[in-house]
Parts: sequence; C-alpha cells; structure tokens
Amino acid sequence: MQNNCIYLDNNATTKVDPEVIEVMLPYLTDYYGNPSSMHTFGGQVGKAVRTAREQLAAILGADESEIVYTSCGTEGDNAAIRAALLAQPEKRHIVTTQVEHPAVLNVCKQLETQGYSVTYLSVNNQGQLDLDELEASLTGNTALVTIMYANNETGTIFPIEQIGLRVKEYGAIFHVDAVQAVGKIPLNMKTSTIDMLTLSGHKLHGPKGIGALYIRRGVRFRPFIIGGHQERGRRAGTENVPAIIALGKAAELELLHLEEATARERKLRDRLEQTLLATIPDCVVNGDVTQRLPNTTNIGFKYIEGEAILLLLNKYGICASSGSACTSGSLEPSHVLRAMGLPYTTLHGSIRFSLCRYTTVAEIDQVIEVMPGIVERLRALSPFKNDDSSWLQGQEQALAHR
Ligand SMILES: *Cc1c(COP(=O)(O)O)cnc(C)c1O
Repeated sequence: MQNNCIYLDNNATTKVDPEVIEVMLPYLTDYYGNPSSMHTFGGQVGKAVRTAREQLAAILGADESEIVYTSCGTEGDNAAIRAALLAQPEKRHIVTTQVEHPAVLNVCKQLETQGYSVTYLSVNNQGQLDLDELEASLTGNTALVTIMYANNETGTIFPIEQIGLRVKEYGAIFHVDAVQAVGKIPLNMKTSTIDMLTLSGHKLHGPKGIGALYIRRGVRFRPFIIGGHQERGRRAGTENVPAIIALGKAAELELLHLEEATARERKLRDRLEQTLLATIPDCVVNGDVTQRLPNTTNIGFKYIEGEAILLLLNKYGICASSGSACTSGSLEPSHVLRAMGLPYTTLHGSIRFSLCRYTTVAEIDQVIEVMPGIVERLRALSPFKNDDSSWLQGQEQALAHR
C-alpha cells in the first residue's frame, strides 16, 4: 500500500487530522455507551455528543439545535430536497443548476419522473450563474431552490446571499450544498438567507461516513429516515458517536486554521497555476478565477486527454483528478465543464488540483517540475497535436466507435 504520495485531490476526500483521530478513538474503545441511555455510562457519551454539536454549530454560526447529523453529504442533500418538497406538497417546481454534484442532480432527475418540474440553470463560460435567469425561473409554485456554494470541480463560488434574497421573495425554501465551502469560506447562518445547508466530514479532514444538515429554526422539516427520536425526531438511528466526536474536532480545527490555512493554500495554488500557465503552451484555467475556492485550480491542457495526464502524474506519485470521478475512464467529459461550453480541445484535457493545509511548497514545486514534460510527451504522441479540427474529428470518431 502506498501512502507517501503528493496528494492534490482534496476536493475528493481529505486526510483525517491526527488530532481528530485521537479524540475519536476512546469512543470506539472505552466509551461505547448509547447517548440516549438513562445510565451515567451512556449519559457521559451524550454529553460528549453535545459538545461536538456545539463545535460543529460554531463553524456555521448556527445554534446546536439546528444541526442534524447524517451519514454523508449525499444523505444531507437527499434529505433536504425531500423534506422541502414534503413540507410544501402543493408546490411542484424545483430550481437547481446544471453544475451540481450528482447527489443533487440525480435526485432532481428522479423527481422529474414523479411529476415535479425542474429548472436547471445554465452557467456562462466562467462557470457563473445569470441572476436574471434565476429570477425569471422563480414562481409561486417553486418549492425549493437547491444551489451549491462552491463547485467541487472548478472551485467557482456562487453569489449565495444574492441568490437567497431572490429566493425569499418567492417564498421558496433555499437549500445549499456547502460540502466544498465549509472550512474554506467563513460562514455565518445568523446573517444568511440559507434555510438548509449540507456539509460532509471527509471533505474537511474528518472521517468518511459522517455529515450534517443545518436546518434553520422555523423551517418546516420532514424526516427522511424514520424511527427513534434521535436528532429531535429529524433523523432516526443510533448516533454514529465516534464520527460525530471526530466531526466536532475537525470543525473546530478548520475554524481555528481557516484564515491562515486558506491564505497559504491560495498562495501555493497561485504559484502552481501561474507557473504551469507560463511554462506550458496552450493551457487555460477553467472557472471563475475572481470568485473561487482558495485551494482549487482546474486547468485545461489542449489536445490531450486528462486521463492520460493523470496516469503519468500517478507514476510520479502525484494524485490529481479529472474532476469527474463518476465518468473517469470514459471519453465522456465532465458535466460541469460541458455546461460551461468549453471547446472540445480543452474539455478532454482538463485536470483539477485541489490543495489542503498539509500541502507543502516542495510538493507544489515537484508538480511544477514534472508537468511540462508530461504534457510535451503526450502531445508528441497525439496525432491531433495543435490542430483543433483534426483533433475534434478524432474525438468524434472515437465516440462513434464506442
Ligand atoms: C463530495 C461532495 C458531495 C458528497 O458528499 P459525500 O459525503 O461524499 O456523500 C456532495 N456535494 C459536493 C459539492 C461534494 O463535493
């Protein structure tokens, strides 16, 4: 097993902070009581869960009663969308965007088969929304607007509060998938228009299998998982105590490090991006570089395949992503980059590097050193090099032969 790689795939998942492991372990060994039990042994676990809930609420500027634990970000998105619709059965319209995570997009697609109408807002070639298009899509029949805070593939940040003000005018529930935003952007639910917000532990140096849904006090909610009275009746099932304790610590550390870590990551990300752009011909940055997560860069290298770049990077022990884990290995490009209307020549050769607070200058410089050679090698092999029209023909032939 390999574990000394240069890990630049932090938007896919992150390393669990050693401090997080340390606080979590006793709840797997000694303190195994059920937090709902009447005895002291269980009660002390319940107390630890309350502390963890306060730690998590703090990173959102929320009240602890507004936090509901889930098993992951995907569950949070599913639960929020279904709850919003169940609470307003008379309304049959949903607004979302073309660039959401599959945890939102595929739920919306399924709801279309159940009589809901869904508006998928478009994005421009920078990956940004058109607020006029949003405004025009909203009606009194709109039950829910579900829009991500920041895009996992490009890092593009949406103007969430401007969106929320418009949503509120139409009385719809506003859900935000903030899985990529929590720990990277300061958030404060006290002054926000967001009604429900999804986050996930493993994207912020916590463990996999734990997430949370913020539900603003007063917002009507219908549980997705029904059973016992846990989570104030909003999500049944005995709490995943070790993971909840871990998520609390992870949130505390994210909040503690937020300012200094994001400044550092931005500097390293910019160093990587600017050097690659300066040393490699025919490459472009995808997404809105003015409104972007500090840790993410998505770069399109023309005339070559992103997957081929990833394989060569992997030989150097460098982990990156083509931004679309679900479609990797196929010629199907990312739905996010496609929605941005990128030309075919960039669409197929796009790579995402996503950093974290553990990323070092030496690691970034290693990538800067190997990338030009990798791109040059692949372009030398490419029969379509530096020629948009023949490259495009080749892609079309390849697609036709699938
Ligand atoms: C990772 C991710 C999810 C899914 O979270 P899981 O905890 O892996 O289910 C949802 N939305 C976005 C934007 C993500 O990046």
